[in-house]
Amino acid sequence: MTTQPEPATAGRQGTESEVGSVFVSNYPPYSSWSADQLPHVHEALASAPRPDVDLGLYLHIPFCRKRCKFCYFRVYTDKKYDEIGAYIDAMAREVERYAEQPALLGRKPRFVYFGGGTPSYINPKQLRELVDRVKAVFPWDDVEEVTFECEPGTLSEAKLEAYKEIGVTRLSLGIEHFDDDILRENGRAHVSKEIFRVLPWLERIGFDQLNIDLIAGMLGETDDKWRDAVEKALDVAPDSVTVYQLELPFNTRFTKSLLNGDLMLPIADWETKRRWHEYAIEEFSKAGYEVSSAYTMVKDKETCRFVYRNSLWRGADLIGMGVASFSHLSAVHFQNVDGWGEYLARLGHGGSQPELPIARGKQTTADEQLTRELILQLKLGTIGSDYFQRKFGVDILERFAEPLARLQERGMLAIGDGVVELSRAGLLRVDTLLPEFYDPRYFGARYT
Ligand code: SF4
Repeated sequence: MTTQPEPATAGRQGTESEVGSVFVSNYPPYSSWSADQLPHVHEALASAPRPDVDLGLYLHIPFCRKRCKFCYFRVYTDKKYDEIGAYIDAMAREVERYAEQPALLGRKPRFVYFGGGTPSYINPKQLRELVDRVKAVFPWDDVEEVTFECEPGTLSEAKLEAYKEIGVTRLSLGIEHFDDDILRENGRAHVSKEIFRVLPWLERIGFDQLNIDLIAGMLGETDDKWRDAVEKALDVAPDSVTVYQLELPFNTRFTKSLLNGDLMLPIADWETKRRWHEYAIEEFSKAGYEVSSAYTMVKDKETCRFVYRNSLWRGADLIGMGVASFSHLSAVHFQNVDGWGEYLARLGHGGSQPELPIARGKQTTADEQLTRELILQLKLGTIGSDYFQRKFGVDILERFAEPLARLQERGMLAIGDGVVELSRAGLLRVDTLLPEFYDPRYFGARYT
């Protein structure tokens, strides 16, 4: 799994688990991004550096052992060692090109995120080569957080030691479930014994933060199995736990089977998935965890800061390396080409001069930046109007009075003393609420 933006359809979340995703990861919707906007991307890259704005690097490792049946990301399951080496080299060339851009000259990242795909799929030698080249142009001495996503079955003790050595602080383990039948039915590559094999290594090596991911509502889920998964997750005692509700985006194996009428086992409806999600929140609360966003609970809010998420949702610059990666710089969004061959070719594999492999962009207005931060920060559960007043000079309680009133009437949030707070019901379906704040021209927009 990754936390980088992904295709989705903004919007509805009724009773049935209908096809189409609801997860909102960015604004304006991707369907409004285009190649016509590339001059704005190049203007942003050529502008003066903004040292007061946080900078992050996202490194997209698009390889997986197997494609999960619910996966809608750009991933490859057939690449050999040399092909992976060529890709790693292309990413390093890409980061070197970025380091030459005026807007990034002399800037040091505050956070680094290895997402996928499965970053833990690649071997330590290739990883170290990549990291050395990244650090050579973007030194990590100001980096506060390095997140690394892992699939349990790809890990070894030596790999985990390599992650510690390169500076990983936040290890995110994609457990998703502990039940082998569910893992198999949903096409996951790992089995439960691989999860338990890894835990002593993690204990011994020790990362600043261990996050584990769970998914509520995978095919074959039942009340009993979910209870058991939550209990086992509590036994792991992670620093944070992230719970997703399974979605059915258009381009997954499940969706194709459903549309063809081949999928016999039922997928839980949204009400059930929200109930399971809420059960996890309650059980982790009993164990002392606190809600830190709609998806994540943490053991200790003081020590478990998620710099990547918090910075990104407050308008940080993010440079994404890798095929189909997303970036955000000086209020301009952009995305890389999404084809393997084109990505490598644009970075000089084939003999041409390496160039940035950007395919499309979107310059945002001040109002769109305000809306983007508002909807992303709403996922934290609470927002204060003073932040938006200071940053944008706008009273959000006035600017968004209508959608706020509608959601308040539905019991999704409460407004008091300059603070908007989502109710538990609002938190559990936050992504379906966010389109309420969109500019009308983006109503019903597809996130592709
Ligand atoms: S682990 Fe599964 S869901 Fe995650 S990127 Fe790979 S195939 Fe997709």
